[in-house]
Amino acid sequence: MVRSDTDNTAIIVGGGIGGLCTAIALAQNGWSVRVLEQAPQFGAIGYGIQLGPNVFPMFERLGVAQAVRAKCVFPGNVWMYDAFDGQPVTRVRTDADFVQRYGHPYVVIHRVDLHNLLVAQCLKYPAIHLDENAAVTSFEDFGDHVVVLTQDGRRVEGAFVVGADGIRSRLRTLMIGDGDPTMIGYVAHRTIVPLDQAPTGVNRQDVALWGGPGFHIVHYPLRDNTMFNIVAVFRTDTFSQKGDVESYRAELQATYKDAHPAMRDMIAMLDLERRWPIGDREPRRGWSQGRAVLIGDAAHATLQSLAQGAGMAIEDSVIFAQCVKLAGGDHPRAFKAFEKLRLARTARVQYESRFMWNYFYHTDDVESEARNAAYRARSDEDVWLCLDWLYKGAVVPDRI
Ligand SMILES: Cc1cc2nc3c(=O)[nH]c(=O)nc-3n(C[C@H](O)[C@H](O)[C@H](O)COP(=O)(O)OP(=O)(O)OC[C@H]3O[C@@H](n4cnc5c(N)ncnc54)[C@H](O)[C@@H]3O)c2cc1C
Repeated sequence: MVRSDTDNTAIIVGGGIGGLCTAIALAQNGWSVRVLEQAPQFGAIGYGIQLGPNVFPMFERLGVAQAVRAKCVFPGNVWMYDAFDGQPVTRVRTDADFVQRYGHPYVVIHRVDLHNLLVAQCLKYPAIHLDENAAVTSFEDFGDHVVVLTQDGRRVEGAFVVGADGIRSRLRTLMIGDGDPTMIGYVAHRTIVPLDQAPTGVNRQDVALWGGPGFHIVHYPLRDNTMFNIVAVFRTDTFSQKGDVESYRAELQATYKDAHPAMRDMIAMLDLERRWPIGDREPRRGWSQGRAVLIGDAAHATLQSLAQGAGMAIEDSVIFAQCVKLAGGDHPRAFKAFEKLRLARTARVQYESRFMWNYFYHTDDVESEARNAAYRARSDEDVWLCLDWLYKGAVVPDRI
């Protein structure tokens, strides 16, 4: 059957990691795709991101695995250190044995590099149109097609609309209306410095997490080990307010005053121009309505404790496109199948991330002693066993 332009056009709201991957996956199946991005250009904030081995089978299907590998650093461990005495609590060994177990590596990459290579892959498909300055305000579902409206009055017609518009999704508001994400009273400050300026005594070659009561730092190298990415996160009553550099500095110094000297050295290096309040969403059913569907953070935003928010969005993209293909034109059925396939796995990431936030990252006193005792007793094999469900990846269905 020959489809009309509208029948053959998928509309994606949001050109983040999830939206771009979904565009590629749909275009591979013959769809014409319009990606509507509110920003003046398709791009990412300039910090690092960790990716587990579970994303690589998806990258292979999307045709970007080699390009991603070329831009990654491959750390040999993900360490957890106690924020006060600086002693190791546990680690995930991510060396050759890890790669053998999971078939793929654990990597860190600059978000700008990841975004650029995804945009480059989109541009290889003439059927993908990337529309900038296209803030979506609403959509109408006519049963056999949708019309998506932008702030500047554009009307875009398609067979269905995918909300890949992040944790504060406009599409989610229109479809579910369950309000703002749950802000948990923490904020993040992110910074990149040249690697040779990283504080002495700090592990520069691995991913490292330092956890303390109400605060943590994550750091790792980027771009051929020339850059050092630092993320400092802490609890503050002012999480929803905009302050200035001096007020942020005062809060950080007070929060980290008893922390290990290496942590205090890293705090002194932070760029304090911007902070990000941290939040997630309650796992729930109902990601689609008729011809509209949510993916990525719009469907299942998570805390970053497992470093898997983008990972889940990448998995979503390939599985979503496969469901659309297998449903043979019955889009609502495809969307229901997609949610069924993805709900438990993404909800587990959300729940485990919350658990880790409270009982692994941010423990105090007796909790810390209990945590340290429990995790120090674990072998490398024990640690991997706990992560198998995640790192062994998601199945792309061959029928729904
Ligand atoms: C501090 C921190 C560290 C993190 N670290 C990791 C990590 O190491 N590994 C990992 O996997 N994940 C990590 N995450 C999570 C990860 O960043 C997100 O899960 C991921 O970016 C979600 O991708 P997405 O495409 O669903 O949404 P987003 O990346 O948020 O993209 C949404 C896009 O939609 C656009 N948009 C929004 N509204 C509209 C609209 N109305 N119209 C048009 N466009 C719109 C936005 O401009 C944006 O481009 C981290 C998050 C934080 C906060």
